[in-house]
Amino acid sequence: MGTAKLIDGKVISAKVLSDVADEVKDLKQRGVEPCLAVILVGEDPASQVYVRNKKLKCEQVGIRSLSYTLPADTKQEELISLIKELNERKDVNGILCQLPLPSHLNEKDVINTISAEKDVDAFNPENVGHIMIGDASFLPCTPAGVMEMLKYEGISAAGKHCVVIGRSNIVGKPMALLLLQDNGTVTVCHSRTKNLAEYTKEADILVSAVGKRNLITADMIKEEAVIIDVSINRNEDGKLCGDVDFDNVLDKASYITPVPGGVGPMTIAMLMKNTVTAAKNQNNI
Ligand code: NAD
Repeated sequence: MGTAKLIDGKVISAKVLSDVADEVKDLKQRGVEPCLAVILVGEDPASQVYVRNKKLKCEQVGIRSLSYTLPADTKQEELISLIKELNERKDVNGILCQLPLPSHLNEKDVINTISAEKDVDAFNPENVGHIMIGDASFLPCTPAGVMEMLKYEGISAAGKHCVVIGRSNIVGKPMALLLLQDNGTVTVCHSRTKNLAEYTKEADILVSAVGKRNLITADMIKEEAVIIDVSINRNEDGKLCGDVDFDNVLDKASYITPVPGGVGPMTIAMLMKNTVTAAKNQNNI
């Protein structure tokens, strides 16, 4: 037993962003300026922070960003018509609508309206289908960020038992598909799984995306396991933390992602990468 190596999302995302910035420079020399349109409906404070951070990252790597801040009582038709307008615009390469939307809006219809080639979140069913088949242009940002972290550390899923906890369309399900594509043997656990620990104890690579503090304790993991903590929770002092009992798991795992500073910064970096990919694809580069 030793101390696990930290998988540092700040360092790895900085590398991704620096590669993206180089690509943006190259594209600009060819007369293409990548542009991301970000739509925020309502005043959810967490969403406002996410949108602001996305805008700042765009500036950092040289991507032009357009912000659309719509009132909480925006009608479905108004939002759909804005997305259709952005779909048509040649100068806009990526479109993102910050979720969750106010409850009167139909999230599914909104996501489906974003044209597949501008859907940099990769939530549109057409892109989800491509992920399933394994020929996607865009990978969903959070699971793609996790794969990038594993790659950076030289960790392959091939032949490993990978256990993903959580089955959301945004994180859990695509995470399982990407690990499968990397030749892992994948088990997906969720809220109805009985005896969660039986599965987690067998995991060579454990990805937790539940949103429940201290869900994963040291006795639930295999010696030398790779632990990826996707979740963002707050402890009783208001500090950010993940699903994993970090201090105790640290001595047993071989690698671990911290929260904050783990998967979080990767997500936004992969969004920037997807925007550049969109700009390249739309310009046949
Ligand atoms: P979600 O609420 O949609 O999904 C949670 C999943 O956990 C569900 O599939 C559910 O079946 C499962 N679950 C619930 N209780 C469980 C239990 N006791 N045992 C096993 N499984 C259980 O959430 P999400 O959107 O997938 O996000 C998951 C977490 O990841 C959240 O904390 C969220 O804040 C975080 N997140 C982080 C990033 C990032 O950039 N780091 C991005 C997206 C989401």
